[in-house]
Amino acid sequence: MAGEPQAGCVFCKIASGDIPATVVRRTERTLTFRDISPQAPTHLLVIPRVHHSNAAELAAAEPLIAAELLTEAGEAARGEGLESYRLIFNTGAEAGQTVFHAHVHVLGGKPLTEGLV
Ligand code: AMP
Ligand code: ZN
Repeated sequence: MAGEPQAGCVFCKIASGDIPATVVRRTERTLTFRDISPQAPTHLLVIPRVHHSNAAELAAAEPLIAAELLTEAGEAARGEGLESYRLIFNTGAEAGQTVFHAHVHVLGGKPLTEGLV
């Protein structure tokens, strides 16, 4: 069921503490940790503790938690000393989504002016 932990979901396991992660921030509803395969000097992931497959599904079901993902991303970037950063929500395999538990990437610490947009 949407919102319930999904067996085999790596981010549900991080949220429950079953898989370790380098956690930098936590709230009652969210967790922010370092990406295991960083693509920039700072590469964090902010996830809801509840399971939804992607950001849009999270926003439809839990708009307040979706908004909190953004405020937590901003606070985490500030905590890393970043004035500039990029937030990415991959949605769907063709867009590069590999973990089907909503998350936002926070990237920074190097010029990010090259890219798709
Ligand atoms: P996406 O491609 O948008 O689904 O992003 C999933 C991200 O999760 C990738 O950047 C992975 O490097 C990262 N990732 C996968 N497993 C872990 C893990 N156990 N701890 C931290 N990051 C992870
Ligand atoms: Zn999950």
